[in-house]
Amino acid sequence: MEKRWLAYYPPHIPHHIDYPPKRLPDYLRETAMQFGSKVAIDFLGKRVTFQQLYEQSLKFANYLIALGLQKGDRVSIMLPNCPQAVISYYGVLMAGGIVVQTNPLYTERELEHQLNDSGATVLVTLDMLYPKAAKVKERTSLQHVVITSIQDYLPLMKKMLYPLMQKKQNQPLVSIEEKSDQHLLKRIMSIAPAKEINVQIDPVEDIALLQYTGGTTGFPKAAMLTHRNLIANTLMCAHWMYRCQKGEEVILGVLPFFHVYGMTTIMNLSIMQAYKMILLPKFDVETVLKTIEKKKPTLFPGAPTMYIALLNHPNLANYDLSSIKVCISGSAPLPVEVQQKFEQITGGKLIEGYGLTEASPVTHSNFLWDGERVKGSIGVPWPDTEAKIVSLETGEEANVNEIGELIVRGPQVMKGYWNQPFETESVLRDGWLYTGDMGYMDERGYFFIVDRKKDMIIASGYNIYPREVEEVLYEHPKVQEAVVIGVPDEYRGETVKAFIVLKEGMQCTEEELDQFMRSRLAAYKVPRIYEFRKELPKTAVGKILRRALAEEHKNK
Ligand code: AMP
Repeated sequence: MEKRWLAYYPPHIPHHIDYPPKRLPDYLRETAMQFGSKVAIDFLGKRVTFQQLYEQSLKFANYLIALGLQKGDRVSIMLPNCPQAVISYYGVLMAGGIVVQTNPLYTERELEHQLNDSGATVLVTLDMLYPKAAKVKERTSLQHVVITSIQDYLPLMKKMLYPLMQKKQNQPLVSIEEKSDQHLLKRIMSIAPAKEINVQIDPVEDIALLQYTGGTTGFPKAAMLTHRNLIANTLMCAHWMYRCQKGEEVILGVLPFFHVYGMTTIMNLSIMQAYKMILLPKFDVETVLKTIEKKKPTLFPGAPTMYIALLNHPNLANYDLSSIKVCISGSAPLPVEVQQKFEQITGGKLIEGYGLTEASPVTHSNFLWDGERVKGSIGVPWPDTEAKIVSLETGEEANVNEIGELIVRGPQVMKGYWNQPFETESVLRDGWLYTGDMGYMDERGYFFIVDRKKDMIIASGYNIYPREVEEVLYEHPKVQEAVVIGVPDEYRGETVKAFIVLKEGMQCTEEELDQFMRSRLAAYKVPRIYEFRKELPKTAVGKILRRALAEEHKNK
């Protein structure tokens, strides 16, 4: 396979990188040694230096070991962006555990599924999210719920996290076991010295992270990402951004760290490169604009919907956004007008990249400087990353400019899906990851994504898997058939539309379905549009023709 894109690499980007035999948390240790007194995190005014971050993470690792954590045990982290999210992530890895990233917006049902699937024995969460954890604890493998508080950050936090909070009247008291765990946590975090831990880790084989995704077939499953996968992708990112000096940059951390994109391009990159992270627990346009003006971040990785929301703010012109040098846009297509307008306003660059959970996540990006940027393209593969387009029919490599499935291979590609050998076999062949995205490559080796083979819906940057929503719809006693598609939405990128066939003689309103769905799924997965039909188009074997419905919606 010819890597034709390498001819267009600027001289500063290597074609190949050496990956040292390290564990991911070794980078935190090194950065703390070299940049210990530098601020690592600025969170609503509270600052944590790299030395403090290292010590706190190590103490947290000591605490986990005191709880009985052994190498390979899974620890779920259900936190929004805050210092504790970084400390617990690195603490788990230092203790030899495997991080399970958990979305704080999950309902009890979703949380229960993830905990049981991963077999996590410890869950780290906020006091305000504790009720949810307490309710599912008995039905899962959980042994400990570690509660961390955000008291110091109120009241701003309260406003921002309002949707995450449970209703007060349901608040259960913290159990006796949890209280004693809390006591131990306090003692180790505040009194005990940080003891060095030496768990033997094989960076190439040992899993650092279980990152849940719908992948190509729908239902949530976990991509197993090793220490090497995560280090490789972060190092590639650091090399790609060669004009950003170690210890010099300030990065806006508004993409959630429980998603692989924010985790690699903000958290792990900042730890490796000693960048200061300005953390925000939630995307709120006004807060983001104010934060940029006040804290002057130089880097801002985000999703297209974020840039669109900022551009549409009525008082945008009143804010000084000139500190921004580079914005990296990923997770969904970036409209060209948005890119141009945003660059005019900030004077910095807005660069489109591409990736997926299974690749830690980045595989492609446009060049930031020196090399040519191609509008509408996801750019070229990163160092050590192979990519090609293959025909869906023959599996053979497609011709230049011919549409097929994008497949990628490289050190950032996952080991497989956790406990899912068949799913793994269907997407990983000879080290090649079948992305499920349709696209083409031009004569220079720039890649373009045209459509998703998979039916995943991306609304406001969140992934929604139709099958999961459909399964809940099917639980409604009046629903006979249900199918869910993503339809274009100006603000969210896409939104969820459900087509419903009711059981014979039944009456049901949109409101009734909406209430039913809201009690079972995170709000972002709940359909915004319902259409009631007498029947749905199907294939000969009875499979509902999702695509036909999408077409019908488009032509309405
Ligand atoms: P996730 O696993 O959550 O990171 O989602 C990965 C999916 O997001 C990919 O398989 C693509 O379908 C989509 N995606 C990511 N970046 C882009 C992009 N720049 N353009 C189009 N789709 C993208």
